[in-house]
Amino acid sequence: MDAEIITIGEELITGHTTDHNGAYIARTLTDLGFSVRRITSVGDSLEAMEEVFRDALRRVRVIITTGGLGPTDDDITKKAIVRLFKRNLIYHEEVLEDIRRRYAERGIDMPAINQNQALLPQGAELFTNKLGSALGICISEQGRIFISLPGVPVEMRQIMNDSVVPYLQGINKGPSLFVRKLRTTGIIESKIAEMVVPELDLPEGVRLAYLPAYSGVDLRLYAEADNELEAREKVQAVERYLEKVCGKYIYGYDLDTLESVIGQLLTDNDKTVSVAESCTGGELGRQLTSVPGSSAYFVGGVLSYTNQAKIEKLGVHPDVIGEHGAVSEECARAMAEGCRHEFATDYAVSITGIAGPSGGTEEKPVGTTYIAVASAHNTRVKLFRLGADRSVNRHRSVYAAMEMLRREILDID
Ligand code: ATP
Ligand code: MG
Repeated sequence: MDAEIITIGEELITGHTTDHNGAYIARTLTDLGFSVRRITSVGDSLEAMEEVFRDALRRVRVIITTGGLGPTDDDITKKAIVRLFKRNLIYHEEVLEDIRRRYAERGIDMPAINQNQALLPQGAELFTNKLGSALGICISEQGRIFISLPGVPVEMRQIMNDSVVPYLQGINKGPSLFVRKLRTTGIIESKIAEMVVPELDLPEGVRLAYLPAYSGVDLRLYAEADNELEAREKVQAVERYLEKVCGKYIYGYDLDTLESVIGQLLTDNDKTVSVAESCTGGELGRQLTSVPGSSAYFVGGVLSYTNQAKIEKLGVHPDVIGEHGAVSEECARAMAEGCRHEFATDYAVSITGIAGPSGGTEEKPVGTTYIAVASAHNTRVKLFRLGADRSVNRHRSVYAAMEMLRREILDID
């Protein structure tokens, strides 16, 4: 079943507020098996709103709007609704009582303008708002369902979850959906596509999307079928193919993160890790310890920016830095091995690089980064030539380091 989302508010179209509501509702509807055709944002103008509502009603069966249900003059969504559906606003005493009671509980006299909020379109089903005073409004007419929710994100989400989802579940009898995310890192989008495309055979109803970020590329599989089992089987067939052609880049699925996957691997193998960071300022340690329970395997770290710190805290030999420089394969190796020794961990990861914007040379331009992973039997060092942007470099370094650690633990190249 097709759906559209309309988010309302002048602040959305001036760019002062980012439309998070649209994304949240779209995800929810997609998971329920609806096909979201459009997300439109519109300002607080009655004419513009009516036009957008009318167009959407022509195209799809389900429409969800957010915003403009409050008591102030700029909240005119209800006005647009009653004009469009040719209904009156009806005064609901029990709604007003409820709002008044909630104000009283907070020790505030209800402002008079809140009386507006008890005026609701005739014949609408009302969805309770547990966190605010604007109720959700649902109008069903001529095979169309028009739902209006408040703009405040927490209120919108509460009404979506408690009322809209159950309501829509009873309505959508369309095909079932199955969505699966394969998470990759250490490879760029176009390279993955080169590996995947040649023998890719997508069954009918299956779509594959590449979702790139600096941390990696997610491959999202989305299947539509008569029932969930069939949809799942279609996805699994493609998933097996993707694992065959680019499996070593896939570190996890769906809600996995690189740091959670590493945490699981270290826990399962009863191993520990420490870090020595020179251009990421603790970002690698922060990322690894963002996983609950990480203190079981993350022992500690050193932020060693000066040569002195590398020598004194990590035991890097002064000659290594003297001969090769602090940003070198040799120094990265010595940092990782020294760190592993200092913290007595099974693994240690080091990063040394030129994050920029200054400090680059012809031989070692900004973005030159060496990452090393030391373990009991070997130390891997890799050179990464990242870009010119400091914060992107730091971010990429952290993900590259985590991926090297994952591969060292799994003993894959
Ligand atoms: P209220 O009763 O609070 O006035 P309302 O339904 O009138 O509710 P709006 O006035 O449109 O909602 O928005 C309230 C606040 O919610 C805005 O200031 C904005 O910060 C936030 N908001 C509204 N729409 C969105 C959106 N699409 N995405 C993210 N935030 C939003
Ligand atoms: Mg408002």
